[in-house]
Amino acid sequence: MQSVLLLAVLLPVQASAQSASPAFDVPADRPGTSTIPAHYPPLDSMHRRIAALVGRHSHLARLDTIGYSATLKLPLLAIKLSKNVHKREDESTLLITALHHAREPAGMLAAIAVAESLLTTYHTSRTSRLLLDSLALWFVPVVNPDGYRYMHEHEFSMPWWRKNMRDNDGDGRMNPSVDGVDLNRNYDFNWQDGDGVQPVSWFYRGDHPGSEPEVAAVQKLALRENIAAGLSLHSYGEAVLYPWGNFYPPPDQKMIITLAQRLGQVMRKQSDGSAYRIWPLNGRAGQSSVWMYGRLRAFDYILEIGTTWFPPVADLQRIEMQLWQAVEVLGWTVISQGISGHVLDAETGKPLVCEIRVQGLEAGYVAARVSEPVWGRFERILQPGRYTVSFIREGYQPYVRKDVKVNSGAKTNFTVYLHRIAGR
Ligand SMILES: [Zn+2]
Repeated sequence: MQSVLLLAVLLPVQASAQSASPAFDVPADRPGTSTIPAHYPPLDSMHRRIAALVGRHSHLARLDTIGYSATLKLPLLAIKLSKNVHKREDESTLLITALHHAREPAGMLAAIAVAESLLTTYHTSRTSRLLLDSLALWFVPVVNPDGYRYMHEHEFSMPWWRKNMRDNDGDGRMNPSVDGVDLNRNYDFNWQDGDGVQPVSWFYRGDHPGSEPEVAAVQKLALRENIAAGLSLHSYGEAVLYPWGNFYPPPDQKMIITLAQRLGQVMRKQSDGSAYRIWPLNGRAGQSSVWMYGRLRAFDYILEIGTTWFPPVADLQRIEMQLWQAVEVLGWTVISQGISGHVLDAETGKPLVCEIRVQGLEAGYVAARVSEPVWGRFERILQPGRYTVSFIREGYQPYVRKDVKVNSGAKTNFTVYLHRIAGR
């Protein structure tokens, strides 16, 4: 849940149920002792479920450990879904993350349910086949394993627990009144402008941008895979949050909002079935979607799912079906809308990393979108229209392609050959 929403329930309150200060060698999960509803299983069960899912579908799914948590050194598991999953293919890539915040596990279950559904229906659903054949989909369903385990094992009740288990005061013990970093304030974009300066805050941003290994691991994965679009699942509020509203506008704002509205149309409110509302994120805080756009130009959204931190089973099932549609919307947009192609060295034919700048859609306060290194593949999600696109790399003559037509429903594809500047 983000601070822009439902401020009444978000006032920084401290965990009340926990008074002991356990050492960091937290014992194994104790199922059945938690006040958390039973359909939100302990962390070990979730990890086993993730491993079993990948094991059953090893031709379409791969399990990666992308890092380890700050304090308990638990593995940060990522699942890749794609046809030919063990190769790096010439395809666009999505990223779905969940459980940045310990008390928001509905997204974790929904993300795993969607991954499972894509895998089990690959041979029967045209959509599943299209997504897995055309894209690589990365899921990081438990960004904050320490926080989730801590909350589970200590039987927290309202307001549960939000942060990770960073030992802010360095005393070697977990003290909920001063320890923990808000992982969704620790990303390395406009971090310094965010609030949450004090460790006691439930929105504490951490010692420096990307200080938390959980965040560093997600950032590293996103950069490595040159993510094109993503979803980050939080609870709650029934809203689609886009980057961003209060900072200089994101240069792709029109397209960002268009896609947010499409996502809102499939994510529907429990009460009356109306669309999730669309709401801008705070661009001046180290939040994941803000970093994803500002650093990678990925179209990334926070979905505040549900109406409570621990939705009942029936709500969860409805949310999982909606999320499946949201992933379809996101995937189809990346597959069908804008421009894509390859950038190659004109002499050697080797793929090149270069900047892809679209006239009228750039700004100095965000990074340029770049092509990826393995195939020289580039993409930009664009609304239908005509564009001037520049391809820029140091040591090469810039290439400007004018009057590039973008239609609705099919991407415009082309290959760009860059010429090395003589003597360089
Ligand atoms: Zn959250």
